[in-house]
Amino acid sequence: MQLRINPNVARLVCSNSGKEVPARGFASPVGLCPCCPSPGKPVVVEYALDQVRAELASAPLGGRDGRGIWRFAPLLPVLDVPEEYAADVGGTPVVRHRRLSADLGVEVLLKNEGTNPSGSFKDRGLAVAAALGRACGARRFCLPTQGNAGVAACLFSARLGMPGCLVYMPESYRGCVYHRACEFFGGEVRFVGANIAAAGRAMREDLAGELASGAAVDMSTFFEPGRLEGKKTMGLEIASDLGAGALPDVIIYPTGGGTGLVGIWKAFEELSGLGILDAARTGLPRMVAVQSANCAPVVEAFEKGLADVAPVTSRGTVADGLDVPGAIMGHGILRVLRASGGAAVAVSDAAIEAAFARYGALGVNAGLESATTLAALEALLAVGDVRSGERVLLLNTGTHLIPLAKPQPSKG
Ligand SMILES: [Zn+2]
Repeated sequence: MQLRINPNVARLVCSNSGKEVPARGFASPVGLCPCCPSPGKPVVVEYALDQVRAELASAPLGGRDGRGIWRFAPLLPVLDVPEEYAADVGGTPVVRHRRLSADLGVEVLLKNEGTNPSGSFKDRGLAVAAALGRACGARRFCLPTQGNAGVAACLFSARLGMPGCLVYMPESYRGCVYHRACEFFGGEVRFVGANIAAAGRAMREDLAGELASGAAVDMSTFFEPGRLEGKKTMGLEIASDLGAGALPDVIIYPTGGGTGLVGIWKAFEELSGLGILDAARTGLPRMVAVQSANCAPVVEAFEKGLADVAPVTSRGTVADGLDVPGAIMGHGILRVLRASGGAAVAVSDAAIEAAFARYGALGVNAGLESATTLAALEALLAVGDVRSGERVLLLNTGTHLIPLAKPQPSKG
């Protein structure tokens, strides 16, 4: 598979300092920035928007040949991806839900990501990250995970014909659905430590040499720039589906690492830069981060008015994907929440489970992380942060099948 870097990529910049990060011809994989204190901050891709605009004169964005997220190729960092690699990634419709709209007194739009090939929105980020890593000469991928990201990384490693992705999971995940799914897609799973942070530390020790040489790429959230670019396609699809003048007033996003929240906003900024969105005329959506009250570092930092997210001690949550006690892109998440006039809200695990059951009763195929969006909407309505009649998009990140496949504590 011969992949190439998109000539529309203008430069790489540090998300924290704004300084340019040397791309070195993309001859080796891109990791965290060299300008901030170790281990560095996330690196972000910037595009030559004049060049993109010229390209779009012949075919509008999203209207190109091909299916899946690469229909937005002019704004993706890597090109020449074959159809079987990602035609089934993304393309999830925005659906107006009449019953929820009537019940809640707002226009409820659902974007359900459970139809992606590994069952979650993680496929968008990992599809681009793996292709970008491969284009930069990576020979193997690795990451610590406690959920869907590991499964997606294994799936795209397999689709690239690369050696099995090395996945580090906390000890307690042995035998769980994520473990089995990673192995199904050819991954090699190692169990270390009590949580994802400990698993990540062990991985970086075990693989120090390969990571330093670029032979292995750390696919952790925001440790390389491709995952953000892939998640950005959710924003491109929302704008493309609804049209520039009909964006939601509010987007509610379940926030662990926050890649999608930052990515959706990056899409809106790029579309504004291209003149496709007119932010001054129509306004952009208010972005809302929702977390479990048992692990809410972004909510705490937002409420305290901080510029970055300080790690917390998680008390554990039923929503695995939100059991993320720190956020390496915390500064970027908070910037988006404030720039958009949005909010951060914590919901209890009981509220998450109640919302999950409500989704099930309505026939909505969404998991526990997704259920936080519905719980958050109810909380925001109660305090007046969302007003009746507004258009609210709930970003539902993954399938109901994952929580249903997990062992349940017996009730009795
Ligand atoms: Zn930096």
